[in-house]
Amino acid sequence: MTAQQDHRRRLLMDRSVPGRVGAILPSLDVPAQELPDGQLLRSDLDLPEVTEPEVVRYFTNLSQLNFSIDTHFYPLGSCTMKYNPKINDEVASLPGFAGIHPLQPDYQVQGALEIMHHVQDYLVEITGMAASSLAPLAGAQGELCGILMIQKYHQERGDSHRLKMLIPDSAHGTNPASAAMAGYHVVSIPTDSEGNCDLKALKKEATSDLAGMMITLPSTLGLFDQHIVEVCRLIHEAGGLAYADGANMNALLGQVKMGHLGFDVMHLNLHKTFSTPHGGGGPGAGPVCVQPSLQPYLPAPVVERRSYNGKESYTLVTPEKTIGKVSASHGNFGVLVRAYTYIRTLGNVGLRQVSENAVLNANYLLTHLKDRYHLPFDRPCMHEVVLSADWQKGKGVNGLETAKRLLDYGFHAPTMYFPLTVDEALLIEPTETESKETLDLFIEAMKAIDQEATETPDLVKGAPHTTPVRRLDEARAARQPDLRWQRKAEEDANS
Ligand SMILES: *Cc1c(COP(=O)(O)O)cnc(C)c1O
Repeated sequence: MTAQQDHRRRLLMDRSVPGRVGAILPSLDVPAQELPDGQLLRSDLDLPEVTEPEVVRYFTNLSQLNFSIDTHFYPLGSCTMKYNPKINDEVASLPGFAGIHPLQPDYQVQGALEIMHHVQDYLVEITGMAASSLAPLAGAQGELCGILMIQKYHQERGDSHRLKMLIPDSAHGTNPASAAMAGYHVVSIPTDSEGNCDLKALKKEATSDLAGMMITLPSTLGLFDQHIVEVCRLIHEAGGLAYADGANMNALLGQVKMGHLGFDVMHLNLHKTFSTPHGGGGPGAGPVCVQPSLQPYLPAPVVERRSYNGKESYTLVTPEKTIGKVSASHGNFGVLVRAYTYIRTLGNVGLRQVSENAVLNANYLLTHLKDRYHLPFDRPCMHEVVLSADWQKGKGVNGLETAKRLLDYGFHAPTMYFPLTVDEALLIEPTETESKETLDLFIEAMKAIDQEATETPDLVKGAPHTTPVRRLDEARAARQPDLRWQRKAEEDANS
């Protein structure tokens, strides 16, 4: 490591020099006051003494140590890490939106409620459902809401014995978790050789104790189930309800409406499809959309438009048989504003182009990589493609090492070892916002890594070589996180 690199890595506290200042405060224009002793929390506070440029360089360098969608191609399967237009953030930051308080009375926030009402309507239009609620704060919370609505629906009909929830083995992991949280007995339905839900297994499990089925569409195999209408029909025939996990609506926008396929309830991930930056875990929004049969159960609140003497107004209401409130206020409003801005800037035609390009990009990767990486289901994919590194594993290099090596080529690694049903899975979602040139560079890197697996496997096994830190001890990072500067023992002894 050069002296310069070493300096760049030093923590801010370790750069501290006594007496150095980074700010000039105006001189005191009131008499100085002693703080009352009893109010002091501590007698001393360790703060780094550094200049302003030191601070700026320190944080700017830190911000560049990570991969992000603003710096690198980030093809994380199932998570839709697409580029989010900056105008969404600008609009959400307008003082009229960012500065309002959730407890302000309806009449003071008519504009905000109107935006929410529009978003509810757009989502209803996009999904082909009858009504929606924007309350859930994440995809998984939307799932739980959907399942609780299904539960209440059955209970009200005296069907409390329906305790079985079917979930294909190609579902997103949150689906069985949500069903189990609501107290359901989860039964897994296998995938057939084409990558669709196995209809024979479904028929066997569609019994009189069926509450419903949760289907991730497209599945985590990146595939559209070719028998989906029949699947929904079979569930209904057994008296169950069909739930669609629409977190990956990026594949279907403007192409097909879940409501028309036979689904009763679904959720969307606004922070994925509708463009809110969500790396690092938030914030998000997982609105639920339902058919008329489930409308009375929607989580509260929903926004209603009222007309009085020719004047329109918006008000928050609680649906008649609501499953209740799922967050302290009205949902993640800033995320809703971003979705509104995104939908309005793209319009009908633009939204359709999103899914066209997302699917085109994924199939472009599929076509160019399937000679070098095993393609478990050899048919056109939707917005993401599942490849397997099992051919590379035969040469001594596994999926994890392949993914780590991609970092050296300047690409964020795709999702690995998921879906669980594919050995050495690499789940790649390029998204619609990437150009052909970027995709070509990615293809070249993937091919180069395959060649390295044959010729210089140790190079791949030791990857990454060029990142600020190499392989991390993930277990130690989780169990003994190093989150803040701490005075070293010998300094303590001296002070
Ligand atoms: C991301 C995702 C979820 C979970 O959404 P969160 O907002 O992370 O809770 C559920 N299903 C699918 C298919 C997803 O891709």
